[in-house]
Amino acid sequence: MAEHELENVHSLLLQLQDVLRQKFALEEEIETIPAALKGKETSLEKANLKYVELNDAYTKARQDATSNSIKYDDAVRARTDAEKLVETITQQREYEAVTKQIDEARVVENAYLKARNASTALVEELDAKLKAQGDECEHLKAEVDEEKAKIDSILAEKRSEIEALEAKSQEIRSEGLSDEIYSKFCKIVKNKNGLGITPIIQGQVCSGCHMILPMQFVNNVRLGVNPTEYCPYCSRILYYQEDDETIDLSAFEEESNEDFFADAISDDDFDSI
Ligand SMILES: [Zn+2]
Repeated sequence: MAEHELENVHSLLLQLQDVLRQKFALEEEIETIPAALKGKETSLEKANLKYVELNDAYTKARQDATSNSIKYDDAVRARTDAEKLVETITQQREYEAVTKQIDEARVVENAYLKARNASTALVEELDAKLKAQGDECEHLKAEVDEEKAKIDSILAEKRSEIEALEAKSQEIRSEGLSDEIYSKFCKIVKNKNGLGITPIIQGQVCSGCHMILPMQFVNNVRLGVNPTEYCPYCSRILYYQEDDETIDLSAFEEESNEDFFADAISDDDFDSI
């Protein structure tokens, strides 16, 4: 491959790398932005659920109160009817029977009075709780809506920035990158923390993963046998720099071993390659 063509591909890849880094960073931001909203939405869902539960309890308490009130009124009527009966009685035995009836009616009446008062108190208590819960739901809903509007506007802004970067990527691609190289490279930049193309340093070392490369491989890169050569250890695209001899490699040595496994080629790197 002619040297200028090779340089063109590498220069395009370096430009593309810059654009992709910005694009991927924005995509990552978009992922994390709605996290705060999710928390608020969960609170709202819980509050709404509690409101429904309270409302069910309130409805039941009201039915109980109505029913107890009717039973109480019936009991009062039964007692007063029996009391009226007393006035018409002349026989002692009948009098005792009706008096007993009145006493029993009074017991029932008191029991229903207590039940009615208790259920009425419960209705009032639940009514207050329901109102408070309704306020809480409204408050949370307003917060969710506000957060949503804020997020929507931020997301719209970021998405339009991403679109612009995507257009820029396509523009770079059209200047001389094959579909194959373009798609492989995008994937490598994404998987390799934004570094998809990197020079060979010290004559034989990948500056992406700091592994010593096979000499034959280095020669292929130097001679431009293929438009792109992928590091056999980290899968980044490598290019050759004639004047890199001054770079001090000792700075890389310590981390090179640790990085090897983290940086080693994974299936992910190649599933589209
Ligand atoms: Zn490498």
